[in-house]
Amino acid sequence: MYKTAADLLKPWGSRYTEFAGELTSWYRQNRKDWPWRSRFARDGDPFAVWVSEIMLQQTTIGAVLPAYNRFMDTFPSVHHLALATEDAVREACRGLGYYRRFRMMHEAAQVLTKNLEVGEPVNWPRDFVSWKHLPGIGDYTAAAISSIAFGYPKAVVDGNVERVFSRLFNLAIVPDMKWKKIFQAAGDQLVPSEAPGPSDFNQGLMELGQSVCIKGRPRCGLCPVSSYCAAFAAGTQSEVPLTKPKMTFEDVRVHLFIQEKRDRIGLLQRSSNARFLKGTWSFPSAIETDDGALLWETPQINLNGAREIGLVKHGITKHRIEVVVSLLDSAMDVAGMKWFTMDEVESKLVSNMDRKAFHLFQRRRLTTPLEAFFDV
Ligand code: SF4
Repeated sequence: MYKTAADLLKPWGSRYTEFAGELTSWYRQNRKDWPWRSRFARDGDPFAVWVSEIMLQQTTIGAVLPAYNRFMDTFPSVHHLALATEDAVREACRGLGYYRRFRMMHEAAQVLTKNLEVGEPVNWPRDFVSWKHLPGIGDYTAAAISSIAFGYPKAVVDGNVERVFSRLFNLAIVPDMKWKKIFQAAGDQLVPSEAPGPSDFNQGLMELGQSVCIKGRPRCGLCPVSSYCAAFAAGTQSEVPLTKPKMTFEDVRVHLFIQEKRDRIGLLQRSSNARFLKGTWSFPSAIETDDGALLWETPQINLNGAREIGLVKHGITKHRIEVVVSLLDSAMDVAGMKWFTMDEVESKLVSNMDRKAFHLFQRRRLTTPLEAFFDV
């Protein structure tokens, strides 16, 4: 069932050396002018590429675009990021989710700038393996940054590239880790060895998967490598690869408790052992167990007189979360609570789950005086 990279490339014969040329010349004519591309073309700073690759992990380009510019305005260089507080990093990447990747990037920035004065040149890792030594950098990100910023010849393989390769070689498979290794070996044979070839090859492959060889019905009429494509030749391009079995979700119930005093909102920090969103600012927060007990994610609070004001839904990886939003009586004192204006709360909350709860609270507040919730 499994093949080798050589088995896959065999039908192409000597043409396999031309594949990269056709892909890269298509990319050069069709590349999109994303801000990270123009910034890197202008300044040549690998930091611009690194930030984009971290942000694009599991996040759409549409969501990354405004966040990227905000992040780069706040931290124009790796030195600025290294010197930032954790709170400032959280604020700069708010709304993107999966905060752990930015915590690791912050840590990596501190590793890279250790013992350097601000503005001193950074001794950037230049190849795939050296990038992988930094916190938070896996195979895909190391290949992307080292090829785009330094011209290192290592192919990127993510879900989009797996789909493209499954079709190029007409494989009726569900891509798994073994296939990923085979595709990686095939990609490494195809990637050109000289800059800017590796950068354009990898970005071409990514762009092909994002805009032409898309899920469902690929746009083969626009494809620069259709003459290599076994699925296109066989008419099976909409059937391969096979669909992964559906993910099973775990249902979770989270409680968030909002308190307002004198136009300020109280926030606490989730603990470093919290199940979700460790260390982030939040309303007092707890997870409900099957038997109805509350496991606190922030320091525990007294719930005397708390009133439920509504529910919001949210998803985090394989968790389907129902969030119960409640109001706390403003007369109650909560130890350790920090107080913020409405605008400050917007920027303090990193998770969309907390922001959805806050927006529900704001809508309720517009239509019902808060005291009315306690007149029961
Ligand atoms: S010809 Fe179609 S299926 Fe094949 S790689 Fe191109 S877009 Fe994908």
